[in-house]
Amino acid sequence: MSSVTLDHVYKRFGNAKGVEDVHIHIESGEFFTFLGPSGCGKTTTLRMIAGFYFPTEGQIRFGSQEVTALPPHKRNTGMVFQNYALFPHMTVFENIAFGLQVRKINKTDTKERALRIMKLVRLEGYGDRRIDQLSGGQQQRVALARALVIEPQILLLDEPLSNLDAKLREETRFEIKRLQLELGITTIYVTHDQAEAMSMSDRIMVMQSGEVQQIGTPHEIYHHPVNRFVASFIGETNLWEGTVVGIEGDEVKVRIASGHVLSGLKQNASPRARLTEGETITMSIRPESVQESTVTEGANVVSGSVEMSEFTGACVNYTTMVGQEQLRSMSINLGRPVKQRGDSIGLHIPKESIYFAG
Ligand code: ATP
Repeated sequence: MSSVTLDHVYKRFGNAKGVEDVHIHIESGEFFTFLGPSGCGKTTTLRMIAGFYFPTEGQIRFGSQEVTALPPHKRNTGMVFQNYALFPHMTVFENIAFGLQVRKINKTDTKERALRIMKLVRLEGYGDRRIDQLSGGQQQRVALARALVIEPQILLLDEPLSNLDAKLREETRFEIKRLQLELGITTIYVTHDQAEAMSMSDRIMVMQSGEVQQIGTPHEIYHHPVNRFVASFIGETNLWEGTVVGIEGDEVKVRIASGHVLSGLKQNASPRARLTEGETITMSIRPESVQESTVTEGANVVSGSVEMSEFTGACVNYTTMVGQEQLRSMSINLGRPVKQRGDSIGLHIPKESIYFAG
């Protein structure tokens, strides 16, 4: 297994920007995800690691070995493509064994390794099937087996679940994570699906328009988004602007448009947030942290009028107008009557749950 370092890597396509200044160190054995919307540069970055693209600037290293200009077959990476890129006229066994034959591994070892990997991805007994006789989920596992059978140092996965239906996607993400933990293989995963990224990764790199926005654990990215883009791309959140009106010890007081003053904690500010009096600041408040209050006034309680309510059994979700601003909340159902559109409501926003995104 190997670590992967991208040292100030840039990729331009003519005059067009691909990615800009990607600077990361992925630890050996880490599950690392590139996350972002379409066109943000995830695939370009992955392709540079695989060797399908060469950087315009910067260096790529696997461990201490520089690989920046090496072609793909000299890098010892295994890759799973979005469309799997399997050979449709070959059997499952032939597809999996192909990479070993190319590497001139003898027949006995090829068979032994292919069978072992088929067992690992739960494809035992499918060796003689043709690819077009398999379900989407089974094809996905063949693609995974084909990438793993060459015993790569690094596994690269480019949106490997996007062709599967929702239920299978969830099952398969669990399978991939199981395999990765079992093999301890350094894995780089590309997706635009934040739930996938959050549930599988040790760390996530969030990208937008070819630029890295934030690198962190799922917990850090969710709870300490560095800017509005990250806060709104990862899960649901309320983004409110306010003016810093006071700082007292560990607490920051912020006045919002409705006139309410909220207290937050200094420690919940991203490095980009300017916590000086008079500054306008963006707050990220997750709906699940906002709870219905029995009062309409008090510390960190805002009052408003219910615009929409939704009863899901376990939860009561409200969209409330607080002045001109919307506040979405997701409260655990405590058996209180559900408020309806037009009812007034008090909502408590705990100070620990306000994040200053800058
Ligand atoms: P998607 O999720 O849609 O695959 P992505 O985040 O993987 O998107 P990339 O495919 O890496 O994004 O593209 C990043 C940028 O680089 C885009 O603006 C894209 O148009 C551009 N780009 C990618 N490959 C090429 C190429 N071969 N020639 C020219 N521009 C390219």
